[in-house]
Amino acid sequence: MNTPELLQYDKEHIWHPYTSTTNPLPVYMVEKAERCTIHLSSGETLIDGMSSWWAAVHGYNHPVLNHAIEAQLKNMSHIMFGGFSHKPAVELAQKLINMTPEPLQKVFFSDSGSVAVEVSMKMALQYWHSKKESQKVKFATIRNGYHGDTWHAMSVCDPNTGMHNIFNGRLPIHFFIDQPTSRFDEELAKEDFISLTHLFKNHHKEMAAFILEPIVQGAGGMWFYSPDYLKKLRELCNKYNVLLIADEIATGFGRTGELFACNHADISPDIMCLGKAITGGYMSFAATLATNDVADTISNGNPGVFMHGPTFMGNPLACATANASIDLLLQSQWQTRVQHIESKLSDGLASCKKLEVVKEVRCLGAIGVVELTHPVDMAVIQKAFVEKGVWVRPFGKLVYLMPPFIITDDELDKLCAAMYQVIYETMEVETEVSI
Ligand code: PMP
Repeated sequence: MNTPELLQYDKEHIWHPYTSTTNPLPVYMVEKAERCTIHLSSGETLIDGMSSWWAAVHGYNHPVLNHAIEAQLKNMSHIMFGGFSHKPAVELAQKLINMTPEPLQKVFFSDSGSVAVEVSMKMALQYWHSKKESQKVKFATIRNGYHGDTWHAMSVCDPNTGMHNIFNGRLPIHFFIDQPTSRFDEELAKEDFISLTHLFKNHHKEMAAFILEPIVQGAGGMWFYSPDYLKKLRELCNKYNVLLIADEIATGFGRTGELFACNHADISPDIMCLGKAITGGYMSFAATLATNDVADTISNGNPGVFMHGPTFMGNPLACATANASIDLLLQSQWQTRVQHIESKLSDGLASCKKLEVVKEVRCLGAIGVVELTHPVDMAVIQKAFVEKGVWVRPFGKLVYLMPPFIITDDELDKLCAAMYQVIYETMEVETEVSI
């Protein structure tokens, strides 16, 4: 099949994320990708501003990661984890335990971020079941959060912005409090303090865990909030006997300027979910880490085992790639790189503030967000970005960049320039014309 035939077959038969089969948004056929460049079958090249949704921190086609996979392939690509273990899995567990906050001592491997979230919620429920506190079956979270598309992950996504509102009424009902208003560089605001303390005072008896994305809320709104909020939350979880689950699937591995976003507040959760950049974006893989207290309580309870075990758990290829990716990250000057990207994004996106359609520009770590006053037209804006030679995929009112950490200054300049031009041409001029 040639490229038009491939695209036609795709259009007729394949579902893409969050799309219709009868009226799908256009897709672009990719031939290959290397470093921060995506090569389309049309011959066009795009500078990557998305890291394939937070994941490809080292860029694409990295020789070290390629070598790790090839070497592992010669031994085995997969072996069941029931009854077997292997060096890549043990080494990965050791790396994760060493790099995450000290209380996290046990690792459960799974296949994707959503599954890691399901596992974390199941751990919390089984923890209280083992303690014979059967009334603790609800989860609490903040509005505008996002934790994945599987059933129980969906139940803690924002009921309105979480892309799952059509399932309201069918999903388990949990406690939602307002998104933190205290910004990243601010102290805890009074209203945040009140809504947190109110929730815990009134509902702690039913709460198994509080789950949230630390510091950066991703797909639910690209919002950055105060480390003080996490500190207060940790304090309340301790005081009221509620587990704290940190979903670091998007924020983990340096993206926010700390290795894990919890580090900004110097707190440790009871359970932490990792995914996306764990394999440097090479393949789907995830891990759920827990404290000894969580693991031992489950193991000393009834039935005495943790009831989960996916077929591809601990996949050796993924573990070997994750080991190589973590080594690459830790051996690099990742923190200096991320700080540099933050200052380039802050400077480069500042001009967007002049546009009428722009509500706010905010940057943290290797994340730059331009929030608009009204939603984009995806088909129009996506095409305009591709025509400018960059890959940026907005959603709703949010146009944002989260490039690979290896991006060059020149590439960053081009990405930022394209952000301004495309928002101006597709949104501002449109608004001026319609006025
Ligand atoms: N949690 C967060 C914070 C995420 O951003 C995502 C993915 N966007 C998930 C969970 C789900 O991960 P996956 O898509 O790998 O299932």
